[in-house]
Amino acid sequence: MPKVLCPICGRAVDRLIEGMCEECYLSRHPVLEIKNFNVVRCKYCGAYYIRGRWVKPKRGDDRELLERLLRDNIDVKGALNAVQIEVYEDRVVYNIAGVGAPHELIKPREFQTSYVAPFLLDVCPDCRRNIWGVERGLVRIKGYPEDLGEIEYKKIESVLEHVLYEARGRNIGSVISIERTRGGVEVLTTEPKLARHIAHKIHQVLPSDYVESYKVLKGRGDKKVYHYTATVYVITLEEGDVVRRGPSYYLVIDVNNREVVTVDVASKAQVRFPLYRFTEVKTEKVAKARRGVGGEGLGAPGGLGVVYYVEIDNKHYIVPI
Ligand SMILES: [Zn+2]
Ligand SMILES: [Zn+2]
Repeated sequence: MPKVLCPICGRAVDRLIEGMCEECYLSRHPVLEIKNFNVVRCKYCGAYYIRGRWVKPKRGDDRELLERLLRDNIDVKGALNAVQIEVYEDRVVYNIAGVGAPHELIKPREFQTSYVAPFLLDVCPDCRRNIWGVERGLVRIKGYPEDLGEIEYKKIESVLEHVLYEARGRNIGSVISIERTRGGVEVLTTEPKLARHIAHKIHQVLPSDYVESYKVLKGRGDKKVYHYTATVYVITLEEGDVVRRGPSYYLVIDVNNREVVTVDVASKAQVRFPLYRFTEVKTEKVAKARRGVGGEGLGAPGGLGVVYYVEIDNKHYIVPI
């Protein structure tokens, strides 16, 4: 049989398939193609989000649904012989084997590959309804004026751990979930009093302010069911931070469980903000002051004692304490 040259790779082959050799054809028409996909699962009931719907697995058999999810996202020119599925906390690993060919002139060949799909936890609409019907306490913990940092997260986590330990065996309800949100933490509880207890504990331990509200849930018969929400603002400032509040700049010299102690940068007067007042006015962290003694090097009069060097918009201030 006369050999022909593949116009793409130049190889001499017996025949061309759609104008190219088998190898070139295979590289352009893979036997198996997998579209990127995630595995989305409801964290409460275990339902999977498949083809725009939430589907509950039958009696703990997740395999069937996980495989359906895979089949929805692959294009295979042939048959899958084996799909092995490994489920981990944060991902699902599919090991796939099969036989196929992308063209009838190409002899079917075996293939084998694996695909890692990230696990995403969500809440299905059913559970969302159930939770909001049954769950009666929510504590939102946020940072103020900046998002919570690792140190605050750690402290909050240890308070929560302690509260959960205390609450065990007592009839004050239980925690449904603790979730890190963008810059904060959200805690859902079955009882308002547990949520309230958590909010108060956080407030006791960390410099913070909180607002709380009660709402009567409707459609629950004669007995009134309350929903409690608390938002705890944890002060994320420390000594040396400079903040803008309205037209004024303040240097923070202390943050404690009652107040934020500051010095007005312009007037050098000490201003103490009770925490419940502090969160009332929009506050922005704008600079970090440097602590020094006596104003050396900046032409300040001697004998000032402890001073802070503050730079705001290229202007320098020396703030004595
Ligand atoms: Zn070729
Ligand atoms: Zn669910």
